[in-house]
Amino acid sequence: MRHQLFYLFLAKQLKPFPMPGFEIFGEEERKEVNDVLESGILMRYGFDHMRNGHWKAKELEKAITEVFNVNHAQLTSSGTTALSTAMAVMGIGAGDEVIMPTFTFVASFEAIVAAGATPVLVDIDDTLCLSPSAVEAAITPKTKMVMPVHMCGSMAQIDEIKAICDKHDLLLLEDACQAIGGSFKGKKLGTIGHGGTFSFDFVKTITCGEGGAFLTNTEIYHTNADHYTDHGHDHIGNDRGAEAHPFLGYNFRISELHAAVGLGQIKKLDQILATQKKHNAIIKSALNTVEGITFRRIPDPEGDNASFLSFFLPTEELTRTAHKALLENGLGGNFYWYDNNWHYIKKWEHLKNATSLFPLNPGLVDAIGKMDFENFHKSDAIMGRTISSLINLNWTEEQAQERAAKMAETIKSVLA
Ligand SMILES: *Cc1c(COP(=O)(O)O)cnc(C)c1O
Repeated sequence: MRHQLFYLFLAKQLKPFPMPGFEIFGEEERKEVNDVLESGILMRYGFDHMRNGHWKAKELEKAITEVFNVNHAQLTSSGTTALSTAMAVMGIGAGDEVIMPTFTFVASFEAIVAAGATPVLVDIDDTLCLSPSAVEAAITPKTKMVMPVHMCGSMAQIDEIKAICDKHDLLLLEDACQAIGGSFKGKKLGTIGHGGTFSFDFVKTITCGEGGAFLTNTEIYHTNADHYTDHGHDHIGNDRGAEAHPFLGYNFRISELHAAVGLGQIKKLDQILATQKKHNAIIKSALNTVEGITFRRIPDPEGDNASFLSFFLPTEELTRTAHKALLENGLGGNFYWYDNNWHYIKKWEHLKNATSLFPLNPGLVDAIGKMDFENFHKSDAIMGRTISSLINLNWTEEQAQERAAKMAETIKSVLA
């Protein structure tokens, strides 16, 4: 009960939503953070002789390459700056069009707009991710990149999307911020495209408090990401002040303290995924008995990260009613993105109006002005009927069973 109240509280407080590495924060993370506190070197670069051999960011980058089977990983200060880093190193800028889905977190278009490029929004399908046919229909001579977002723990039809990118010679960037540890046919999400991104913010599958990573198998992208995220420093030699700057950069660095938390967390990833899968299956088998519920299509069910169970009800009206009934019955952690959250295009007024504190690239403002933001009936028809149910780690099996039964009963009574 205490847990449920806590999560109900969290569900109301947090703008994004808990996908819960933080639920199992403990001894391991504290030990890693203490290593950093004891040396006092909180920065990831330099101070070699003072750091007692601790290089938490470097260590976490190495762990990421091993766990996710990818050649290179560059840590960043957030998932959003990981996306911005991806844009920079993949050469996305003024005048370029980047195809992205109508259902995602706002960071997706923030990174595109920050690059001076144009976000081209296209429909999702019953995978809750980019519709491959919608991607193909949106390609113009200005299209340079396609950015599928593996939403709510599961994957886009990445094989079909990759084939489209190959056919049209487009860059493929996977936003895997919400699907860490998920995979498609044995390949980890975030490592299939030319680049991929993770977020380690407080509510993601594993967390650094704040942090992110850019993953790639292409060496030049990684070298440039290493420089770009640290003001363009070339990191040659060991005198920071004397380093050259081959190109303009930014400060998107992660701190040693944040990286230390991530090092503790990444060791728990297998355990997190196993628990999520177990609890997800319990909820799913209960909902499976309710006539009228169908489930999100998962292109490779084996590869689901299982942080959410997303399902459809027959109509928008019934979905609204069921969502309300779930919350009224104390079943927090059930999300109706269509109305309540800013994960869907409906609530992106600031993007639709190009509202900015400073003058934007005129080409971008023109392009946004010409977009038809009201013509996403296919996405509406899906999102209007979608409820995503958060899977927690700290449930006991009995609590998961109890919640599953209560959810099924609540929805059944609405559909009756
Ligand atoms: C969380 C998230 C991001 C951004 O991550 P931050 O670390 O919060 O900046 C990007 N894309 C998606 C899909 C996300 O869920």
